[in-house]
Amino acid sequence: MARTIENIVIAGAGQAGARAAEALRARGFKGAITMIGDEPHPPYERPQLSKAMLQSPDAPLAYIKQPRDWNETLGVRLETGTAAVDCDADRRIVSTADGGSFPFDRLLLATGTRPRRLAALDGGPLNVQYLRNVEDAIRFRRHIAARSRIVIVGGGVIGLEAACAAAKGGCHVTVIESEARLLARAFPALISDLVADKHRNHGVEFVFGATVTGSTSQSVQLSNGKDIPADLVLVGIGVVPSGDLAGRLGLPTADGIAVDACGRTAASDIFCAGDAALQWSRCHGRPIRVETWANAQNQAIAVAANMIGGTSEYNDPPWFWTDQYDLNIQVAGDMREADYIARGDPTSEKFSVIAMRGTEMVGALTVNAAKDMAMLRRIIAANAKPQRGDLESPGYDLRAAVEITMKAGEGDRQ
Ligand SMILES: Cc1cc2nc3c(=O)[nH]c(=O)nc-3n(C[C@H](O)[C@H](O)[C@H](O)COP(=O)(O)OP(=O)(O)OC[C@H]3O[C@@H](n4cnc5c(N)ncnc54)[C@H](O)[C@@H]3O)c2cc1C
Repeated sequence: MARTIENIVIAGAGQAGARAAEALRARGFKGAITMIGDEPHPPYERPQLSKAMLQSPDAPLAYIKQPRDWNETLGVRLETGTAAVDCDADRRIVSTADGGSFPFDRLLLATGTRPRRLAALDGGPLNVQYLRNVEDAIRFRRHIAARSRIVIVGGGVIGLEAACAAAKGGCHVTVIESEARLLARAFPALISDLVADKHRNHGVEFVFGATVTGSTSQSVQLSNGKDIPADLVLVGIGVVPSGDLAGRLGLPTADGIAVDACGRTAASDIFCAGDAALQWSRCHGRPIRVETWANAQNQAIAVAANMIGGTSEYNDPPWFWTDQYDLNIQVAGDMREADYIARGDPTSEKFSVIAMRGTEMVGALTVNAAKDMAMLRRIIAANAKPQRGDLESPGYDLRAAVEITMKAGEGDRQ
């Protein structure tokens, strides 16, 4: 007989955890919800940490919901400032670092990720920081206000958004990237060059193909023998899943916590959503962790419904954006190793790039073309196969492809 669901525990009070709690109530769940978060704050969204919060020394932190005590209105018990450290899957109890214990009928792991550490700088004499939480953002913007000499390790999205804020704030900024170009993990080379030029125009310097080997109190030492003067190093070399709790349950966690399309882990009645979840991606053709705002929200909402009896599969293609200077770049699906079709003039700062593998559109990227992205996301999500010739034609209106897709969907339902 199906077990009655009276208690739901959410480990991790970030974006996915908060959206899941909200969705449970929106779906009519009347039992107890406890959300456990190791940060001392109510849930907040992280994109602001490398954008709005770095624009001025007193830019406020926006919580996911206002007022701050939204959880009380929703009837969610929020335990902040303590980590969920253990879980007894047989007795169905989660224990916290401060000695609390919380029974559950369903458990959601929404523990996100933490920054990958750069061992070469651990314990060294130089100021080193990462950018994952509100305290990190406040620390970094103090350095911007002080016009520090800043070295950023990692030419990915987070590092470059931080570089942008620091350069705009008048700091001397050097970015160290071990690859031969920026953003190599998710972007085609064309975009890497555009972004690098934009940064150079704002005074940012780059060192490519080098890694950090150590530090002095005033500089970062590189594998190519150079010493880069610095007051602060910000490391942005990716993240690793926060899987300690999942590990206590015996779940493999090296690449993330594996889930099926409904968000179920291999452990009975234990689900996972957000950055920590390792989920199948049709566009990539393999399971991936999706480290995006949209996934933290939408996957969490879908999984919450499944925790209380739903069976809806979550298959949204990954989508994220980055803002750097006057560039808004958005990416959907998978942009790596594909045939690219440019729409618009790639030498301009307003165009789109579509990634094709055979007849399948597996990804799309827009530069200052958010309206195109809205269409492209719908086409990718529907797994539509627009004609390549149409896409290559500069006059082709993407709305036509969306309409064809929608009509095909209606046909399928009839
Ligand atoms: C600086 C920055 C900028 C970003 N900008 C963008 C952007 O522009 N666009 C975009 O699409 N995405 C962006 N992202 C990514 C996006 O914010 C993440 O994908 C999203 O926050 C993931 O949500 P989550 O709830 O899965 O994880 P998190 O937000 O990491 O929340 C997980 C929470 O769980 C806590 N936790 C971990 N383990 C435990 C435990 N055992 N017990 C209790 N609590 C625990 C963590 O401390 C954290 O508070 C950005 C991320 C960062 C860091």
